[in-house]
This record gives sequence, structure tokens and C-alpha cells, in this order.
Amino acid sequence: MAAKKELAIIMIVFTLVFMLTSCGANSAQKGDKLKVYTTIYPMYDFAKKIGGEKVEVKNLIPFGEDTHHYEPSVSDIIDLNKADILIYNGAGYEGFLEKLKQSVENKDLVFFDASYNLDLIFENEEETHDPHTWLSIKNAIKNLENIKDIFSRLDGGNAMYYENNYQKYKAEFEDLYNEYKEKFKGYKNRSIIVSHDAFGYLCKEFGLNQVPIRGINADDEPNPLKMSQIVQFALDNNINTIFYEEALNSKISETIAKEIGGKTDTLYPLETLTGEQVNSGEDYLSVMKKNLDAILRSFN
Ligand SMILES: [Zn+2]
Repeated sequence: MAAKKELAIIMIVFTLVFMLTSCGANSAQKGDKLKVYTTIYPMYDFAKKIGGEKVEVKNLIPFGEDTHHYEPSVSDIIDLNKADILIYNGAGYEGFLEKLKQSVENKDLVFFDASYNLDLIFENEEETHDPHTWLSIKNAIKNLENIKDIFSRLDGGNAMYYENNYQKYKAEFEDLYNEYKEKFKGYKNRSIIVSHDAFGYLCKEFGLNQVPIRGINADDEPNPLKMSQIVQFALDNNINTIFYEEALNSKISETIAKEIGGKTDTLYPLETLTGEQVNSGEDYLSVMKKNLDAILRSFN
């Protein structure tokens, strides 16, 4: 009798151990938290908002650097070989993506396109699009939803947790959208002069117009003709603010501002924030509110 009972207990213990190890094989294999990498700041912020304490998020491109001309390093590849997922913006933003896919040996790494199902602005007939998708708040909400869906698929045990975070931030992003909508009422077709061609989505969403000093990849410094055209445009349209961004050289904005007897102000495309901004708790919501205030200041 006693022997039978012992055997039964041993069997139960074996079964439990087997269940625990087999359950863990899918998601807990690499530790309890999903190891998430992101390419640019908005994806980093959105992944943290949805993933909360259940995920570990690291951004590939160092904060404060020019994101358009980034090339992955050997240590990036080593990091990605230990990760579960790389969330990239997509819509053509990450020119280095194909090379990265070929270099990473980690067969389990999920490459996730966060711009899946977004409304894109097409730049030309070759179907290249403006990749600064997150500057539409509606698109940013869709980014959150996409990230929530992929986290839930990779880590089903925490699906409810991700869903709750999504609902919470969706509501906050909708409040931000409504604030923009309300405050821009009566400012239809107003123009902003910006440091690079990044604000197309924001302008389209709220009926504004951007005049960029540099192109969509922020690389071409304007020639004297372009500079004089921008100066003329500002004078013709009573614009007294020239926006710059911290990751790019602000000298050109300062020169134009001087020419028109105006001033410069910061407008963040959010591709990157400085490390200090991130550490001090700035995020998409707080920076987009700063952008709203800065644009409104420029109209007055
Ligand atoms: Zn850009």
C-alpha cells in the first residue's frame, strides 16, 4: 500500500515538473519578460506603454542621434541575437532593415512592422511614403494597437494586461487628439516653417501646411535659392517663427529667423529625444503637448 502511494506521489511530481518545463518552453525560455528592441523613440515609448513591467524595452539607435542616417553596429547584432522581437516603424523609415535581417542569426527573432494597417501619405508615384507616421495621433493609436496585438500573441498569459494598458493609453491619446482639434479650430491652412520635412501627418490631420528647410531624410542642407524662397514665404505670410529640432544643426533656422526679424522655437519630430528628456519622464504625450503650444505660439 505504502509503496503504491509513494509511486503515485512521484508520478504527480514528475507530471508537474513536466508541465512546468513544457509551459515555459515557449515564452519563459529566455527569461520571464519579453526582450523587446525598438528602432526609434516613438516605438520605444509605445512598447513601454503597452508592455509595462512585463517587457524589457531597449532602443537600438542611441537617444539624441540623427536617426535617418543610422547604421547598425556589431553590438546591435549581438543584442538582437538575444532578443524576442524587434519593433520597427516601417513605412520605409529604416533603410538599414534588410541588411539587419541578413546579419541577425537569431531565427526566433520576430521583426514587427508597427505601421501595419496605417494610413500612409505617398510622396510620389514611385510609392515611397512619408515615414514619419506617428505624427498623426490617429496613426499613433494604431501603432499602440499593433504592438498590443503582437505582445499578446507572443505572451498570451499577459494578454489582459496588455489590453488594459492599450485601453488606458488609447483614451489619453484620444484626449490629445481632441485637444489639438479644438485648439487648431480657426487656424485652417496656416503654415509652419520646420527644420525637415517631418510634419506631413500632423499637418494633414489638423489642416495645417508645412514648409520644410530640409528634405524628408533631413540630409540636404538648403542652397541660397531655397533659403531666399523660404525667407520670402515667411514675409509674405506674416510668419515670425522658424522651427528647429535639437538633433539637427539649428544655424540655418537662426539665419532665416534673423533675415525676417523673427525668432526660432523648438518643434519635435520625436524621431529621437535626448537621453535627459527620456530620463526626466518626457514621452510622446508630453512632447506632443509642447509641440501644440509651440505651433500655437507661432500663430500669435
Ligand atoms: Zn525625419
